[in-house]
Amino acid sequence: MSAESKKAHNFIQSLIEDAVANGEHTGQVVTRFPPEPNGYLHVGHAKSICLNFGIAETFAGECNLRFDDTNPEKESQEYIDAIKKDVEWLGYTWAGDARYASDYFDAIYYFAEELIEKGKAYVCALSADEMAEYRGSLKEPGRNSPHRERPAEESLKLFRDMRDGKYENGELVLRAKIDMASPNMNMRDPILYRIRYAEHHQTGDKWCIYPMYDFTHPISDAMEGVTHSLCTLEFEDHRPLYDWVLDNITAPCQPRQIEFARLNLNYTITSKRKLRRLVDEHLVDSWDDPRMPTISGMRRRGYTPESLRTFCDMIGVNKAGGTVDMGMLEFAIREDLNTRAPRAMCVMRPLKVTLTNYPADKTETLVLPVHPQNPDMGQREVTWSQTLYIDREDFIEEVPRKWKRLAPDQAVRLRGGYVMTCKEVVRDANGEIVELRCEYDPSTLGVNPEGYKPNGVVHWVSESDSVGCDINLYDRLFNHESPDSDKEGDMVDHINPQSLVVLEGARVERSLATPRTDLPYQFEREGYFFCDQELTAKAGKPVFNRTVTLRDSWGK
Ligand code: ATP
Ligand code: MG
Repeated sequence: MSAESKKAHNFIQSLIEDAVANGEHTGQVVTRFPPEPNGYLHVGHAKSICLNFGIAETFAGECNLRFDDTNPEKESQEYIDAIKKDVEWLGYTWAGDARYASDYFDAIYYFAEELIEKGKAYVCALSADEMAEYRGSLKEPGRNSPHRERPAEESLKLFRDMRDGKYENGELVLRAKIDMASPNMNMRDPILYRIRYAEHHQTGDKWCIYPMYDFTHPISDAMEGVTHSLCTLEFEDHRPLYDWVLDNITAPCQPRQIEFARLNLNYTITSKRKLRRLVDEHLVDSWDDPRMPTISGMRRRGYTPESLRTFCDMIGVNKAGGTVDMGMLEFAIREDLNTRAPRAMCVMRPLKVTLTNYPADKTETLVLPVHPQNPDMGQREVTWSQTLYIDREDFIEEVPRKWKRLAPDQAVRLRGGYVMTCKEVVRDANGEIVELRCEYDPSTLGVNPEGYKPNGVVHWVSESDSVGCDINLYDRLFNHESPDSDKEGDMVDHINPQSLVVLEGARVERSLATPRTDLPYQFEREGYFFCDQELTAKAGKPVFNRTVTLRDSWGK
């Protein structure tokens, strides 16, 4: 084990280091990432994944992937497959096969009977409403259920009858016998098992009773020999119950639960339930819509595993909640792509340029670096010819102050090519500009012109050496900092209507006719763009998703 980690220390790591140093902890460190397969993973889960797998890595231990599958109605194989793919894509390998809480249903059932036999659990027939009433409140203690003192043999028989399908949904539950006056509501005889006639994606129709999360989790951890059960702060009040369960059964080991703060990110939501609503109500295309804060959505948008891991390092792990600025996530991907993304030119809104003094039958091959700071990435060729395209937004007739692009009778350099001067503006019958007639200066390839100064540098492609493509300009999905905590409104009211702008008919360098699919490109002066494989196959031409702009321009 190396205490020296390249990553920043977090309090959990320090805690384990101390426990190892003073002999409190011996043996291997085992953690687990325990998603419920009821949706796709989001950026908050990335934090938990990096933490759990990171701790295991730091201490040369192991991290399990365990599906917490005790709510069969809401879960599915689709989610299981998606979750596995996301964890692998982030770069982590779980120990052995993926596990399921349902693998332990027999053991959990066994421990339930053990509790009943010890007089520590009983079958209760109160209705849900009655149970809520008996439970008391934060100000008032609860009252004991009339079934609390039922003899163990009677509870055992009823529990077996529950298991054997002799009761209806909701008729009976198994409850722990702890303390109805506990100031901790979770300790007021919590439910351990309930009846649910539901087909389970792993166990089929074997069970019609399912254990509750709070009973399942400590037992699953113990069954796997988990040493440190890391979870988010909302489970802090459940820790006494976690420990109670393990203290009162013949558990194979005693894991330790440690809580940390959830990741909240502004301008988005991190709740599977709310994300599912966006999908179900068709407010986004799918779970992996590039605007979604899901791992699959971010992957499709062009986020890299490296950038997500860096982001998780940057935000750290602590006990204090808080909200992280979306700008930090964007910073992490920009930093990563700035050093790694190959450069290319893409003209988003093409405006034709004819070089009146360049021969129609002539072309020249210009050589540009794939990355200006990294010669190892090699070079690319682009073709100079009479007909070129520049972006409509790089030309203006009424020149504002500080205009550093093309205008009538002004000159600009075309990136990596020559300097040209705009001589004539051609319009169609509607008065719309359809072409610029320009003169290029043959003495300016790689050198400054003599006697005048170009008014900036613009990107371009040539007609013969470019291909058509579509561009999805993605922006933040919500235009409200905290879309789901607006008491007056609904999160749906805060969806950014500009979160997707589609540009059809853009043109990109020919070398990108078959774009690489492992990494986004930097389209010079525009931002980072990643080939959408699904949309490309559908469109029959490249479709690029904007991963992130070159600079942080949000709200500016
Ligand atoms: P959601 O509300 O989105 O369904 P959850 O906590 O119910 O989240 P689980 O599938 O139970 O989702 O989560 C698996 C693991 O990921 C848990 O250990 C959970 O604490 C952790 N996790 C979930 N959301 C976050 C988050 N926003 N930040 C950090 N960890 C999270
Ligand atoms: Mg959950």
